[in-house]
Amino acid sequence: MHEMSLMWEIINLVSDDARLKGFNKVSKIDVIVGDLSNVLPDALELAFLYFRTDQISFIDVRTELHIIRELAIAKCKSCQLEFEPDYRVALCPMCGHPNCLLIAGETFRVESYEGSDEHES
Ligand SMILES: [Zn+2]
Repeated sequence: MHEMSLMWEIINLVSDDARLKGFNKVSKIDVIVGDLSNVLPDALELAFLYFRTDQISFIDVRTELHIIRELAIAKCKSCQLEFEPDYRVALCPMCGHPNCLLIAGETFRVESYEGSDEHES
């Protein structure tokens, strides 16, 4: 499951940025996961829960992961219909044209995160 390494990259990315901004904790991470991005939200969540308990300086059990799902949208190049495809390669449900452009659903990125500079009590 490649979600483990993806989650590890996200945590490192966010931690590096938090360090630069003078935070010492990350309280929340928002990640956009497209339905056709080949990333499974459940597996990503599991990976996060695993790393969260693993003494990484910026992430602890209070850190939240918020996964924002992005629906897949394809647009037919022939009749311009926009529809939700099940796969990357889709036939237009209106005219049957095979040449449809995927315009959303492949995104996988960190949307934002919240850092704090609270001190351990
Ligand atoms: Zn069409």
